[in-house]
Amino acid sequence: MIKTKNSNSFAQRVLAWFDEHGRKHLPWQQDVTPYKVWVSEIMLQQTQVATVIPYFNRFMASYPSVFELANASQDDVLHHWTGLGYYARARNLHKAAKTLVEDYEGVFPPTLDDVVSLPGIGRSTAGAILSLSRDERYPILDGNVKRVLARYYAIEGWPGQKAVENALWDVAEKNTPQNRCANYTQVMMDLGAMVCTRSKPKCDECPLQRDCVAFAQGKQTDYPGKKPKKVTPVRQTYMLIPMFGQQVFLEQRPQSGIWGGLYGFLEAQSAEEGISLLAQRGIEVEEIQQLDEFRHTFSHFHLDITPLIAVVNSTPQKRVAENESRWFLLDEPIEVGLAAPTTKIIKTLAK
Ligand code: SF4
Repeated sequence: MIKTKNSNSFAQRVLAWFDEHGRKHLPWQQDVTPYKVWVSEIMLQQTQVATVIPYFNRFMASYPSVFELANASQDDVLHHWTGLGYYARARNLHKAAKTLVEDYEGVFPPTLDDVVSLPGIGRSTAGAILSLSRDERYPILDGNVKRVLARYYAIEGWPGQKAVENALWDVAEKNTPQNRCANYTQVMMDLGAMVCTRSKPKCDECPLQRDCVAFAQGKQTDYPGKKPKKVTPVRQTYMLIPMFGQQVFLEQRPQSGIWGGLYGFLEAQSAEEGISLLAQRGIEVEEIQQLDEFRHTFSHFHLDITPLIAVVNSTPQKRVAENESRWFLLDEPIEVGLAAPTTKIIKTLAK
């Protein structure tokens, strides 16, 4: 059982730090609504604030409320997400917007359980939405907060393990104050992002330094414990790029799986298999040209991609019924969602 230190003192100290140094001018902190907080929280998962800001602003310009988001096509939503990665986040955001409009008249539900039941929203994100937008008392435990608490209390072990996560939730809950809940949530995220950083925490600027156990031990970077190492597997794929003049052929991927719903090049395990897949789509290949292989890294594997240009001399007549597929001009903006390797290949071709 972890002994909680003086929780008032903890909250008071971090709130005093917030008043002086906390972030107050981020776009989603202006005229705060649950919708803005929700979109920003989803974008900020695995992504830095500086990267998120332009995406967030474009997203709000196109979908100023949950109603515009619910009415948008999935292609359009994925297009707004192109480059941010982890596309399941965008698909879930879109699905949840539809649920909010259909079941809740576009208003975020009042209880944590109802918010958690929406697609793509876990306990921490739900807590952040309710505390930041409504000043309600819900703890959060995102990656930044886990790091601060694990160090302050010297909680050992990898937070992916249930017992470690529970211990962190326990102290997160106990430290959350009764008042200024929105500011408290914000400052815990700010401290993790700005002071108690992953590799070189700025302990001399930290309001928690005087009784931080990891600091006293001089072992700040030992917490939180690392995930047990596994060797990242490597997979190989060929991407077939049918080219007709300055046009390329892209096909929408199935909704489930990697890059679900995005447009991309057909993948095959060999050039021969690729040529036969194209023939099934009425595309007769004249010549194959191989481009340099490159690696795309996912959280759980590396994908080595060999792009193959399949030169064709006529656009195909046949369409593949179950998939959306189209020819796109290389020198015009492609307004559908594209995965990072697809964008990379298209940029190479357009040079
Ligand atoms: S004193 Fe250092 S290690 Fe402890 S919470 Fe503050 S920044 Fe993190």
